[in-house]
Amino acid sequence: MIIMKFGGTSVGSAHRMKKVAELVQEIPGKKIIVLSAMAGTTNSLVEIANYLFKKNNSIAAELIEGLRIKYYKEGEALFAMEVFKTKAKELIDSHFDYLLSFTQDSFTIHEEKAVLAQGELLSTALFQLYLEEIGQESKLLSALQFMRIDKDLEPDYFYIKENLSRLLNENSTSELFVTQGFICRNRYGEIDNLKRGGSDYSASLIGVAVEADEVQIWTDIDGMHNNDPRIVENTSPIRYLSFDEAAELAYFGAKVLHPSSILPAKNANIPVRLKSTLSPDSEGTLITSKVSGSGIKAIAAKDGICAIKIKSGRMLLAYGFLRKVFEIFELYKTSIDMITTSEVAVSVTIDDTTYLEQIIKNLEPYGKVEVDQNQSIICVVGDFVKKDKGVALNVFKALKEVPIRMISYGGSNHNISLLVNTEDKKAALIQLNQLFEK
Ligand code: ADP
Ligand code: ASP
Ligand code: MG
Repeated sequence: MIIMKFGGTSVGSAHRMKKVAELVQEIPGKKIIVLSAMAGTTNSLVEIANYLFKKNNSIAAELIEGLRIKYYKEGEALFAMEVFKTKAKELIDSHFDYLLSFTQDSFTIHEEKAVLAQGELLSTALFQLYLEEIGQESKLLSALQFMRIDKDLEPDYFYIKENLSRLLNENSTSELFVTQGFICRNRYGEIDNLKRGGSDYSASLIGVAVEADEVQIWTDIDGMHNNDPRIVENTSPIRYLSFDEAAELAYFGAKVLHPSSILPAKNANIPVRLKSTLSPDSEGTLITSKVSGSGIKAIAAKDGICAIKIKSGRMLLAYGFLRKVFEIFELYKTSIDMITTSEVAVSVTIDDTTYLEQIIKNLEPYGKVEVDQNQSIICVVGDFVKKDKGVALNVFKALKEVPIRMISYGGSNHNISLLVNTEDKKAALIQLNQLFEK
């Protein structure tokens, strides 16, 4: 079984959806197709939900109607037969009438999740209807019947496997399944989601549940590039990556993959292939357990980082100091990305500042606390230490003009992390790109 996930751009218009149908039909065997919402839809739904929260129901209603018209147009363009055009319009209306119903009453956080879910529910229903029109047998599976997160917002692997297997067994004659990325239920059975960009995560969780041969992430770029193509010119796709390298890049800002999407595939040893729907013949990136090549492979950057320094003159003598510091972060379920220490101070970085105030308050008895917001982590990934001497030297040489706030090297054989001011990020990425110029 193969999992094929198509992102927002790949299903972003009637034209693109038709291309996806072609791609899907070209690959033989059993497949589960995981779709995102059409590009821009989730952003629009977030905007609508924000107006509903602010009780600005008339603006929310206007936006809903505007989006409905957009979908009518795509429906018209997607279907050829009148009977299917009518079915598409009814389907679109059912979702938009549901959205409109939220403009009548007060709005809660649970309802926000239900609003956000409409993007994926719409794209998959329209796509499946299109497959029906072109005579391609397929079965639409609702992710809300099998995808679930637990009390810690982690995937409930047992539930997912049990329920997805049951649904597949009930439709054992089908070869082609279509389902939603991103959406799930929480432990209370309410509609929830796997966070923005979460369709990649859905695809790998589904891959693990069905013990897939491969998880394919089809997007608008020909694989994982060696630097951020939104910022740096002349980036190029990386043919092979190990799970660890890919996970590191995804976690530290390579938007092409959801940060959590690689770990489940790694644990189940399922290859993940990144491919472009815009150039399907390009080889893309294959992510497996194999480590290949040496030296620097790729660079990514993650914004929104907050650095916290705790200065304590007594630290050197006080064993147990770090434990106390870490316990405070643990108490507030805030994970630390980078850490550096000196005799008198320890600096850590976090990206979730929900409990920043409480964390600072709890740290203060242990020393002077300094906080720097608007930081970015630059992550250099590759196979270091083993053969290549001078990798760190080359990184620092390339960055001679950029002030570096923190450095982390040696934690693993494949990562150098640097903390810089976000305003210096662009320059840092461009300068580091020299490392690829041979
Ligand atoms: P999808 O909607 O298919 O999930 P995304 O927009 O989430 O697509 O991810 C693809 C985008 O990720 C690309 O268009 C590219 O701009 C961006 N991106 C950021 N860093 C990288 C990288 N290192 N390699 C490839 N793409 C990247
Ligand atoms: N539609 C969701 C988003 O825009 C999930 C995804 O595309 O992966 O975040
Ligand atoms: Mg994405």
